[in-house]
Amino acid sequence: MKHRRFLFILPALLIALAGCAAQAEPVQRTTFALGTVCTQTVYASGDGEALTLAGEELLYALDAQLSVHRAQSEVSLINARAGEWTEVSARTFSLIARAKALAEQTGGAFDPTLGVLTKAWDIAGEHPRVPAADEIASLLPLIGWQGIELDEAASCVRICEGQALDLGAIAKGLAADALAEIYRQADARGVISLGGNVYALGAKQDGAPWRVGLRDPLGTAEDYFATLAVQDVSVVVSGAYERYFEQDGKIYHHILDAQTGYPAASGLLCSVVVSADSTLADALSTALFVRGQGGLALAEAAGADALVLTEAGELFATPGFYDQYDFALNEGSNYVQAG
Ligand code: AMP
Ligand code: MG
Repeated sequence: MKHRRFLFILPALLIALAGCAAQAEPVQRTTFALGTVCTQTVYASGDGEALTLAGEELLYALDAQLSVHRAQSEVSLINARAGEWTEVSARTFSLIARAKALAEQTGGAFDPTLGVLTKAWDIAGEHPRVPAADEIASLLPLIGWQGIELDEAASCVRICEGQALDLGAIAKGLAADALAEIYRQADARGVISLGGNVYALGAKQDGAPWRVGLRDPLGTAEDYFATLAVQDVSVVVSGAYERYFEQDGKIYHHILDAQTGYPAASGLLCSVVVSADSTLADALSTALFVRGQGGLALAEAAGADALVLTEAGELFATPGFYDQYDFALNEGSNYVQAG
């Protein structure tokens, strides 16, 4: 069996920091957490080093609480005790409550209970494989956000026996929101980049918005098909190219459709969601990638702006998207703005 692994974690977004040469240098810190390279770039009047250190500690703490790859994380404990109540921290509780609400809102396109499926595929792990069709069929009944029970007063969570949580599609959004809050409290500006999640806080030194490059899903890591000018919002991208493996000439990527048990095949190359609420944008970008172009209405209904790139090379966006973020398609791009 031909089995080649292409499992890369590459930036889906590029930030242009140019335009601040005459001003103070930013403090930058890069941390590996939440399965990705996290880069903080901060412009602070006070102690920028201390700020990014606080940010790094927060990233490690979130990783320790939320990762399914850590046996002692709160999420792993909930999974190990499936069928029983598990007490968790207030932050983990509220993220799971939010994830449940967003799963309902997206009609299960985003579903944090597909942990049994992500484990079977192990796309982000050491031994990615294509599970047998009957194995997938046996796991599907275990998926369903309705199985999450919440006891707020006791800060306890329970999932059904056999179920498993996977918060990988929303955790980076929470992390971006939490880091942005740390910067806000310190009256600092900057950019938080967590793989496919970027939070642009404030404006650049010269008052202009940040320019975020959208990676070309068909190009290399250095190829960007468009830029977006943003300020005080998060830009989140989901794409098949972020994590995948190849077997027998077929690509299997990391965004799964809970209805089929297989990688989503909705005809998109990538989905992009913009919102001041990065947790929302993260869940929505995953949901949009699963639903396809038709999912734009979901994002709009949730109060976010979104853009999708189809396999036919056409871009579709929520109303007003192009005006609001000063969208610029790269010269020479083969993609077209279709609607
Ligand atoms: P993202 O990169 O935010 O789109 O999240 C993808 C990650 O979330 C995957 O690596 C899985 O761990 C998990 N995941 C995959 N498909 C889904 C889905 N349909 N709903 C929720 N989480 C998912
Ligand atoms: Mg997501």
